[in-house]
Amino acid sequence: MSELNAPSQTTEATPAFDPEALRRKYREERDKRLRGDGNAQYIELKDEFGHYLDDPYVAPVVRSPKTDTVEFLVIGGGFAGLLAGARLRGAGAKEIRLIEKGGDFGGTWYWNRYPGAACDTEAYIYLPLLEETGYIPTEKYAKAPEILAHSRRIGEQFDLYRDVLFQTQITELRWNARASAWRVRTDRNDKFHARFVVMANGPLNRPKLPGVPGIGSFEGHSFHTSRWDYDYTGGNSYGNLEKLADKRVGVIGTGATAVQCVPHLGAAAKALYVFQRTPSSIDVRANRPTDRAWAESLEPGWQRRRMENFSTITGGGFAEEDQVMDGWTEIIGKLLRNRNMKGTPADIIRTIEMADFEKMEQIRARAEAVVNDPSTAEALKPWYRQFCKRPCFHDEYLQTFNRPGVTLVDTDGKGIERITARGIVAGGREYELDCIIYASGFEVGTPMERRAGYQVYGEGGVALSDKWRTGVSTLYGMQTSGFPNLLIMGLSQVGGSANIPHVIDVQARHIAYILKAALERQSRRIDITREAEEAWVQKVVAASVMSLEFLQQCTPGYYNNEGQPQGELIRRNGAYAPGIMAFSRILDEWRAEGSLAGVEFH
Ligand code: NDP
Repeated sequence: MSELNAPSQTTEATPAFDPEALRRKYREERDKRLRGDGNAQYIELKDEFGHYLDDPYVAPVVRSPKTDTVEFLVIGGGFAGLLAGARLRGAGAKEIRLIEKGGDFGGTWYWNRYPGAACDTEAYIYLPLLEETGYIPTEKYAKAPEILAHSRRIGEQFDLYRDVLFQTQITELRWNARASAWRVRTDRNDKFHARFVVMANGPLNRPKLPGVPGIGSFEGHSFHTSRWDYDYTGGNSYGNLEKLADKRVGVIGTGATAVQCVPHLGAAAKALYVFQRTPSSIDVRANRPTDRAWAESLEPGWQRRRMENFSTITGGGFAEEDQVMDGWTEIIGKLLRNRNMKGTPADIIRTIEMADFEKMEQIRARAEAVVNDPSTAEALKPWYRQFCKRPCFHDEYLQTFNRPGVTLVDTDGKGIERITARGIVAGGREYELDCIIYASGFEVGTPMERRAGYQVYGEGGVALSDKWRTGVSTLYGMQTSGFPNLLIMGLSQVGGSANIPHVIDVQARHIAYILKAALERQSRRIDITREAEEAWVQKVVAASVMSLEFLQQCTPGYYNNEGQPQGELIRRNGAYAPGIMAFSRILDEWRAEGSLAGVEFH
């Protein structure tokens, strides 16, 4: 039996740790990392740093600007845009233009081709439209090339390549009341109109760099993980980075990306230095090939049922069986299920905290068991609540620190000090390097228009970011009044899941339903009432369990706005807390009722 599937050791007996000592340790570790500049510590990739955004995967194409009018525009060619396009096709849409800044479909999987890139969510529920495309992933946790290929498969099967504009970035979206359409501007000089627009930009798409002194002065080679330079490293997404055999490489960051690429770098580089500010929690991966007999036994509707089973369990609900049986259902199950959830809210909070302590003790014990050098093992132990940061799952990351050429440079929560012409300074010592790889993540919490790269101006020229300055305001997260014919696919005010494709699938179906209704009514302009919007916002806020206290206690990271959680805004801008299953039921009932309550067709 794998470690992952072993029965829970959890009992209600006295835990083998001192909760007060752990609380104190977590506080101390957080305090070390708190800093006044929060999100402002990072460097935006523009001007002298703009080249870090260059696309290493395709040559630039030349095309003439578009000046026409299209029925539907979908912004973004990642999973959300692909699902929107596929569902719109299903709803009978003929003219669909997709705009995507990458050179192909895939979104995050287009950009993130670093060695070892793979998805932590089970492929059978993560890859969209498996039944519709007749595809079965080759292993439980698919690797990036397979996911990218599946994105292309969706694009082909739903005829989404027909009118796609790749390598194109929207620069402005402005409602033109006279034309009852959106005026679209791009960095390719396109000036066209779209009657209906679906925004599917994706949440983490702008890479960022650590704002440390001297970052522009390094004379060696450097790149961000989301623009991997295989010309320099050799190899490909599966590894074999043979050109690094004589190179000293430094990786900055130890988040989910670094956890996946470090084993390949450790295997290939002459010397690898991993610069750590905060260790990730590394749980068991246990990947395995797809069992063909199992795949052949699947009954129609299986993917939806499996997605729902996963989201039910990870949402704290009850299911007869755990179909996915992975780290997510195990962790969250441990935190929320099979426990005595009776008692006062304070009792429940304490029960969950105890389960969290147990889980993290297990994670820390794993680091100690796997890593030979005791001080390295100690430095790799995460001291925070499980969901303060993205949990990671890997069976070779911790082991990499047992390799002779690999050094963990733990900065005790301070981060690197500076970068010089020759390398990186941390803990007062300069590490000479040939190459620096920034595994420093993506912008979260910076202004929406900066992350998306464009501003949206609705009726009366009102900017969407101005309307939402005091918080996101929508009906079901997908429409906002004063911005007609605009459908939004995001994570605010919609039911959440650890499996994001489930969330965007529910959204894509709903959006297709609304747009189909608009087509059937020959409506030129659809909007929502302010009353319906306000009622949904209130419902989201009232249901929010997002605890400011929890986020304040967390070590800084993008989950808590780098240690500066934003008061009431987190309740409003967060997900609809009851989760994707409850959210889907609300949408199902709304559609079944048939009057499209709150939506106005003109
Ligand atoms: P993250 O934001 O998670 O990690 C960035 C890393 O850079 C952190 O370890 C951070 O440390 C570190 N860092 C930042 N500044 C400094 C500094 N000055 N000195 C030293 N270290 C520094 O980005 P990732 O790209 O790793 O992951 C982003 C998200 O993408 C994940 O959370 C996940 O949602 C998704 N993802 C999923 C994968 C999967 O399915 N397996 C794989 C990869 C990504 P600190 O923690 O202290 O801030």
